[in-house]
Amino acid sequence: MVCCAAIMTTTQASVDGELAAATAQRRTFAIISHPDAGKTTLTEKLLLYSGMIRTAGMVRGRKGGKVTASDWMGMEQERGISITASAMQFHYKDAVINLLDTPGHQDFSEDTYRTLTAADSAIMVIDAAKGVEAQTRKLFAVCRLRRIPVLTLVNKLDLPGRPPLDLMTEVEQALDIQASAINWPVGSGSEFAGIVTRADGRVHLFSRTAPGGAAKVGVETVPLGELARSGRVSADVLAQVRHDLELLDIAGNPFSRERFLAGEVTPVFFASALTNFGVEHFLDAFVALAPSPGARPADAEDGRELTVDPIETPFSAYVFKLQANMNPKHRDSTAFLRICSGRFERDMVVKHHRLNREVRLARPHSMVAQARSTVEEAFPGDIIGIINPGLFAIGDTISLTGGFNFKPLPQFQPELFARIRPTDVGKRKAFDKGLSQMAQEGTVQIMRSLNDLESLVAAVGRLQFDVLQYRLRHEYRVETVLDQLPYTCSAWLDGDPATFKPPSASMIVKDQRNRVVVLFGDQLMKTIARDRNPDHLLRDMG
Ligand code: GDP
Repeated sequence: MVCCAAIMTTTQASVDGELAAATAQRRTFAIISHPDAGKTTLTEKLLLYSGMIRTAGMVRGRKGGKVTASDWMGMEQERGISITASAMQFHYKDAVINLLDTPGHQDFSEDTYRTLTAADSAIMVIDAAKGVEAQTRKLFAVCRLRRIPVLTLVNKLDLPGRPPLDLMTEVEQALDIQASAINWPVGSGSEFAGIVTRADGRVHLFSRTAPGGAAKVGVETVPLGELARSGRVSADVLAQVRHDLELLDIAGNPFSRERFLAGEVTPVFFASALTNFGVEHFLDAFVALAPSPGARPADAEDGRELTVDPIETPFSAYVFKLQANMNPKHRDSTAFLRICSGRFERDMVVKHHRLNREVRLARPHSMVAQARSTVEEAFPGDIIGIINPGLFAIGDTISLTGGFNFKPLPQFQPELFARIRPTDVGKRKAFDKGLSQMAQEGTVQIMRSLNDLESLVAAVGRLQFDVLQYRLRHEYRVETVLDQLPYTCSAWLDGDPATFKPPSASMIVKDQRNRVVVLFGDQLMKTIARDRNPDHLLRDMG
């Protein structure tokens, strides 16, 4: 018996050891940026340097140029924007990296916000000519709210841009965070020759090996003191680098990994994703600095707060995204789960907390761009897709033990409202099915007129309507007419709708759960409605 117990303990220890090692290897992150800053290009280059793809720029026709492996939905190619957030995994040196592909278009913020909850860190890509742009600010604010540490990559150094010191100052002022340069560019625009890694004072000089950075760059490394002798940079560039580095040494912010993880400082890197200059150094630093999955807060069933430890708590995960018909060859819906703790095994039976029942996690898969591969096992930080026969909703927690729920995901109030109907009344059934699927995925919210005769949809951004119509056409074969309504905000109405005195420019509708909703032309109208109806309660939606 003693012997048997000893063996059990050893086996358990090695299983835990494997789980701990796999967790420590994981880096789960998202890229945040304003459209066009270079997120897609960087994604592709990360795949190139990890050996996942052999040549960058493989796929055809995006914005008249390239489509990358991570952009795969028909509409994304037509519109040149990234619409769906997919996740992909790749290995780099000893690390296992999970990249959450967040949609870059500003209209698509709601989906992006939810995806960010699944990330342990973020890479903020900034265009060196444009600095901190609107969408970057918004996404950075979400990272701060969620306590996600952010690394900064200043991109497009091969084009004329703003002085690096100015960009550092802008990051600090616009985002209210300290910026600390880990490397520094040698020259910029056509004179961009390399980077200096500040920790060791070594200069990495790059040489282009293939047009458009299709293959890795050649690198020659020299000590800073020998840069002049390399003959690769002009006297002006040399003087500028020396000046900047001295200034940074005297006045720059100190950097420590602890301060980065605490969200006090963002490490700043300079690169050109298109030419691959600086990409490899960045990736090395990212793997060294970015955190592996940590403990996550949850609410126990009795209301207590608890933390879910990635290693000590048996398997748990939550749904951060739903999507139907991702691949025309597999017409089904997928729930994307972020694993928060424990080891996942195929066909595992887990507790579905909201439904209070057990579910078998059959046919799990991970995504490598368009290709699906079946997952036999997965670890904290990993993202898996599960075929969803209508069981999962966004925010659902599942676990081996049950008894807790991860904190609810952030929700955003709709700002756009529209009437929608199928052009062919005979397609009503397919229309209703498609609409309810899109609502379940969180693409839009569905509402109805009080007499049930009209369907309405609500969204955070205009693009969501476009996606809705596109997907109804392509996936459900339903052409639709959509008329946008002149409302910008809404509230649930508690109290008798018959005695409610609506302000002008408002409309009373029902949501999917039959709750009465008032749509208003603007915030002022909502305030007026509150003043006029002291016996009713107008609750903000979200
Ligand atoms: P996204 O919208 O953030 O995904 O941006 P993309 O990666 O699609 O890049 C937008 C445009 O900038 C494309 O034409 C890219 O080829 C170009 N681009 C991206 N990175 C660089 C870079 O480092 N240098 C230059 N010159 N162009 C770049």
